[in-house]
Amino acid sequence: MKKLVILGAGTAGTIMVNKLADILDRNEWHLTIVDQHETHYYQPGFLFIPFGIYRRNDVLKPKRDFFPAGVTVITSPVNRIEPDQHRIILGNNAALPYDFLIIATGAKIAPEQTEGLKDSLWQKNIFDFYTIDGALRLWQYFKNWEGGKLVINITEMPIKCPVAPLEFAFLADWYFTERGIRDKVDIHFVTPLPGAFTKPKASAILGNFLNLKNIHLTTEYSIGRVDNENKKIISWDEQDIPFDVLVSVPTNMGDDVIGRSSLGDELQFMPTNKYTLRSEQFENIFVIGDATNLPSSKAGSVAHFQAEILTENLLSAMEHRPLKAQFDGHANCFIESGFGKGILIDFNYDTEPLPGKFPLPGVGPFSLLEETKMNHYGKMMFRWMYWNFLLKGLELPIESEMSMAGKRG
Ligand SMILES: Cc1cc2nc3c(=O)[nH]c(=O)nc-3n(C[C@H](O)[C@H](O)[C@H](O)COP(=O)(O)OP(=O)(O)OC[C@H]3O[C@@H](n4cnc5c(N)ncnc54)[C@H](O)[C@@H]3O)c2cc1C
Repeated sequence: MKKLVILGAGTAGTIMVNKLADILDRNEWHLTIVDQHETHYYQPGFLFIPFGIYRRNDVLKPKRDFFPAGVTVITSPVNRIEPDQHRIILGNNAALPYDFLIIATGAKIAPEQTEGLKDSLWQKNIFDFYTIDGALRLWQYFKNWEGGKLVINITEMPIKCPVAPLEFAFLADWYFTERGIRDKVDIHFVTPLPGAFTKPKASAILGNFLNLKNIHLTTEYSIGRVDNENKKIISWDEQDIPFDVLVSVPTNMGDDVIGRSSLGDELQFMPTNKYTLRSEQFENIFVIGDATNLPSSKAGSVAHFQAEILTENLLSAMEHRPLKAQFDGHANCFIESGFGKGILIDFNYDTEPLPGKFPLPGVGPFSLLEETKMNHYGKMMFRWMYWNFLLKGLELPIESEMSMAGKRG
């Protein structure tokens, strides 16, 4: 039997194992998936936990619920990838050989990369919401907080779900208004980007939302260190910003297994062909999701679109055919904007988010780059779609290739 190994059973790995279990000839191919954890977290739900909208149990399910029959599942950390030997080395040093490998090890936060971030105030006045633990601690803190300076800081790009920090700011505005203390909370959004978001049109519109919601914006701010004693962040060019609570989106990095195997760039992301999703270095390795170094967004929707391309190209590679499917960088993200409303953006490598209707031209029901209640329902529905369709690798009513239908240039 030939061996296909999937390393990582998060969003991307789980989609892939389900797609491939259906397609591959199981008399010819043995399929194995490896992950260190048994619990699957719905990471987009972490955004809602600090504001008491979701609890821990709302964002988790056992990973085993999503593995198809007949697939070997190994629960173990992976120590190393040895591409020259065509094998990976598990936590107990056992070797797992492969003919083809799919790397889907995701991205994680690395607060230790910023001086002082993980110091005495960490998880006392400095929090993250990119981990379940961070989100839960922030919820405990916010419940009793009486107001002051709330600073939301993106340390550096790229980060998972680049709109999540903005959503956090919008929800904080809503939450403290609901609690009747908005006038006591000064919300300050501090980003290394030149605007509120990465792409110019969306950046202008989202920046305007910050303005309307009385959220102060500082751009092109590159954090150098955190002064725990005086509760302030300090940039490389010595600009101080004081805080009572710092919500940090720390440096995002690929998993250490990529670094330990000397396969990644300086942030441990895997060099990947942006169109075919094949590793730049090894013909029998493909990469998907947050683990890649691609300029597309690191998002679950992106992993879903990539999965179709990767499946087609993997089958071609297995049959020694040229790789014809091309990933266009398609991303589709609902942005929760508070007070029961949301905004939708849809874009790819070449086309920035544009206004219009989605998915049906003129009809929607979702509106692009506009704040509507329907977009909020879309955001909240995404969790159901995630568990019931997306992870199972089932078809969704959105094509993997971005469409211009309904968009106004
Ligand atoms: C706060 C927040 C909000 C978000 N909001 C959205 C949103 O609204 N919409 C959206 O589309 N996306 C959103 N995302 C992003 C989305 O969750 C990720 O892009 C998606 O989960 C990426 O999937 P992945 O499979 O690449 O990585 P992951 O889902 O993180 O999976 C990686 C897996 O690899 C395993 N692994 C890693 N290293 C090893 C190792 N050495 N040994 C064994 N196992 C290993 C891990 O245990 C994990 O299970 C959000 C993320 C966050 C944090």
